[in-house]
Amino acid sequence: DETKQRYVKDKKLGEGTYAIVYLGHLRADPSSLLAIKKIKVNTEYRDGLSMDAIREVKYLQELSHPNIIALHAVFSSKNQNLNLVLEYLPLGDLEMLIKDSEGIRYGTAEVKAWMGMLGRAVWFCHENFVLHRDIKPNNLLIAADGEVKLADFGLARSFSDPYRPMTYQVITRWYRPPELLFGARFYSGAVDVWSMGTVFAELILRSPFLAGNTDVHQLELICNTIGTPTEENWPGVSKLEGFLKYDKAATIPVRGREFYLSRFGTAGPVGVDLLMSMLALDPRKRCTARQVLEHKWWSSDPRPTAKEDLPKKG
Ligand code: ADP
Repeated sequence: DETKQRYVKDKKLGEGTYAIVYLGHLRADPSSLLAIKKIKVNTEYRDGLSMDAIREVKYLQELSHPNIIALHAVFSSKNQNLNLVLEYLPLGDLEMLIKDSEGIRYGTAEVKAWMGMLGRAVWFCHENFVLHRDIKPNNLLIAADGEVKLADFGLARSFSDPYRPMTYQVITRWYRPPELLFGARFYSGAVDVWSMGTVFAELILRSPFLAGNTDVHQLELICNTIGTPTEENWPGVSKLEGFLKYDKAATIPVRGREFYLSRFGTAGPVGVDLLMSMLALDPRKRCTARQVLEHKWWSSDPRPTAKEDLPKKG
């Protein structure tokens, strides 16, 4: 069709579980650089996948923001394959930077710059009634000018209807909040804020903060590291379908400031305060994306690194 004719696919850039990504350009402008993401529909996942792909398209096209990957066009190719024409982001993702501890050095000013960009992306999604639901370092791509862009909206869904139950099998386990691990079907932007908190912690530690091997193990890590969810610290939690009752004697009290200062002290006391408010067990007590942006950490020293001075891979 017409849209398809406007683009040319060049070499393959990479392959994920659900898609193959190609470098591409506009037929009319050979110097243009684009990423063409071909969603694999001819797989065993067909039904679920094509639905995810359609969601990705629907929400991404509406969201125009410097920290959200731009979707220029959508077209179908042979076998009904869905192709997304995306902004080309050649510098990898935050996961690659975190892992390259030999080659890449960064400190609090850089973490503040990256978290600021992530915070603005998430705030903009929520402001537009979109939950991202898969925030993790691997979905934070880096543009040539250093700007971090939230990508992979495969799981995004509008939450404008609060009475429509949603699936809880979302968000890669390590970044998943306790309410989803307990099977909550009514949830809010707070799920993305928890993920943001775990990304914040990972940027400081340079290794995943809560790396569970199973869902039960993930909850165990949350209890041991952050505190055990109880009716006292999270009214209503015991009514969630998947709530696991913990032995009273084994209940671990919610960690105080000293614990966070001992592990995340490089973020400073104000940064630690922000991290703690993102990792509140009770989603209603967790700060909102707007409150993240209003936090005094952004204006306290050190100031965030300018995006053009941020470290880059290779
Ligand atoms: P995954 O989530 O496993 O990384 P994706 O299907 O999203 O899988 O992407 C596969 C690979 O394609 C990525 O690892 C990355 O190298 C590359 N890629 C994805 N999106 C872009 C983009 N917008 N610009 C440049 N490269 C991209």
